[in-house]
Formats: sequence, structure tokens, C-alpha cells
Amino acid sequence: MANKFGIIPLGEWSKVQVSPFVISGPCSAEGEEQVFNTVREIVKHAGGKVHLLRAGIWKPRTRPNSFEGVGEIGLPWIKAAGNEAGLPVTVEVANPEHVEAALKNKIDVLWIGARTTVSPFAVQEIADSLKGVDVPVLIKNPINPDLELWIGAVERFYQSGIKKLAVIHRGFSSYEKTIYRNPPMWEIPIELRRRFPEIPIIVDPSHMGGTRDLIYTLSQQAMDMGFDGLMIESHINPDKAWSDAKQQVTPERLGEILSSLIVRHPTVTQNGLQPLDDLRARIDRIDDYILELLGERMGISEKIGEVKKENQLAIHQSERWAQIVKRALEKGKTGGLTEEFILKLFQQIHNESIRHQSSIMDIP
Ligand code: PEP
Ligand code: MN
Repeated sequence: MANKFGIIPLGEWSKVQVSPFVISGPCSAEGEEQVFNTVREIVKHAGGKVHLLRAGIWKPRTRPNSFEGVGEIGLPWIKAAGNEAGLPVTVEVANPEHVEAALKNKIDVLWIGARTTVSPFAVQEIADSLKGVDVPVLIKNPINPDLELWIGAVERFYQSGIKKLAVIHRGFSSYEKTIYRNPPMWEIPIELRRRFPEIPIIVDPSHMGGTRDLIYTLSQQAMDMGFDGLMIESHINPDKAWSDAKQQVTPERLGEILSSLIVRHPTVTQNGLQPLDDLRARIDRIDDYILELLGERMGISEKIGEVKKENQLAIHQSERWAQIVKRALEKGKTGGLTEEFILKLFQQIHNESIRHQSSIMDIP
């Protein structure tokens, strides 16, 4: 049964009621043996904990002349390995020809890669090719941190009649060097959940981390945030993988990771929890106070705007701004707040303050 938004819940179409819903398998299908052996090892080490098998058949690569996937020939391998394991299978599709080949080979679930989600034309073409087809679709976030584009892709499939939908959060590309291949920017899937609570969110720690050492921590963070599932790349011999070698784990390691995850309750049940209710009431009071103070601060900013206007001073005074940041960083440190947080917070406050002053100064 579809919920009030029309999306059919993950538990219903996958028949998997436990959390997390786990997808695993190699980044790419490389050969029949590699696919079968990987799947057999997954069953051996993580049987019962993995619910959908993956293998990339067509690989979108950043640079040409890398391994671009085995193509259609690999579809029967993953399907047969899934049959043997008694598990459904999923592959990435990037155009209507891929869709046709996947459906012909009875692939159970399709996924849309991050490089496809960025292109509304490509997404629309795939969505159109699925009209009248009852197949679940998992939509990875676009490579750039653009929530609207991600939601737009979900809407395109939904409007094509696909109601078995979930998204995969695989992190976002960033120009800055970080410890992640694709920084998680958790605030984006959190905002997606706030706006569309009915869309299941599966986290892909493999493409987020880019290295196998980060997979466990990122998976646990996904659980801590109450997301619904995990997509973890696993390979029979990760170091020899033809794509994404650094981030794949052996099926044995996959089993260990899944067994050590702490899965928490998504919401407070029944009558609430007294200590939590009390603490939340305190947080609400503090939030109200913060908002009142910010309002007051903006009022003062406007007064400053009037003084600057009379004296023909520029709104932005860089020494003053440097002084504000310096003070805030020092004060924040004593309260246990990180520099990154303080800087982001004050940049936002400063932007809002500039908006208020502009509204005063730009009136002739
Ligand atoms: C993949 O899952 O192997 C893949 C290509 O991922 P993404 O689209 O997230 O880069
Ligand atoms: Mn990959």
C-alpha cells in the first residue's frame, strides 16, 4: 500500500523489515567467476544481513581509457549469482538502452548513478523509458551538493509512475581536499528527510569515504542518523579490483562491519521518554533565546546602517569583520565549539547583517 505521498515503503516492496537494508557487491562486474565468488563469499560471511546484490555493468569514469564496465554480457552473471544466493540484484543504468538490457535480463532493481542524476535530460529519458514498468529505482544524489536537483530526479521517476523509490546518499564532490572522497554533508539528506519523510535514504559509505578504513565509521554515522540502509562495495580481492580498489572491502570484512553496527530506534516510541523530553524543552528555550538575541542584533545592525549611510561609509569594513571573527573564535574555543562551526555560524550572521544594512542604505 502506498503511503500518503504515494511512495511505496521500502519494507513493503523489498519484503525486508529489518534495518538496515543492505546492498552489497562489487563496484564492477569483471568476470563471471569474480561475480559468483564475491556473491558466494557475501552469503558465507554476511548471509541474512545483505538484502540486495549490486554490480556495475556500465561504469561512468571520470577520464577516458579506464575500465568502462563489461557491458551487457555481465547482466546474466549477476542475475544468475543472485538466483543462486536467493537474492534480488541491482545494476546502474544511465540511458534507455541500459534499461532495456537490464529489464530483458530480469534485473530486479535499477540504480541511477551520481553522474546521471546531475542531468535532467538523462534522468527524464530514463524515466520515460520506464513508463508502465513496475521496477524499483534507487537514485543516487547528484555529484554536486544540490538538493533540488536530487529531488527533481525523484519527481521525474515518480511522475513516470515509479512508486518503489529510494535515494542513495553517496556524498558530494568538493574542490577542497578532505579526508573523504565525497564529503557526506549530512545536512543535505537531513533536509531531504525533513521535507520528504517518506523517501527511504540509503547511505553509500564506499563512495563517500573513498577508502576502506572509513566505511565502518560512516556506516555507524548513517545508523546514528536513523537512515534506512547501506550500500557497501565488496570484492573478492579488493586490491585487484578494476575500479574503486581502495574503497572496496572483502565480504569477510563486510560481515564484520555489519555485525558490529549499533542500530538505534528511529523514533521515541509510545509515551515519550521523560529525561529526553526535559532536555528537549531546555533546548527549545535556548533556541528561542538565540532567535530573540539574533533579532535584537539585526536591529542594532540596522542602526549601524543608518550611521554608515549618513557618513557615507561602506557596509563591509574588513578590519571590523576580522575582529569579530577573532573574538568569536577565541570565545567559542572556551565553550568547546570548533573553529569550523564558529566561522560558518558567523558568516551566516554576517550575511544576514549585511542584508539588513543594505535594506537601510540602499533606500534613497
Ligand atoms: C558506483 O556505485 O559504483 C558508482 C559509480 O557510484 P556513484 O554514481 O555514486 O559515483
Ligand atoms: Mn564504485
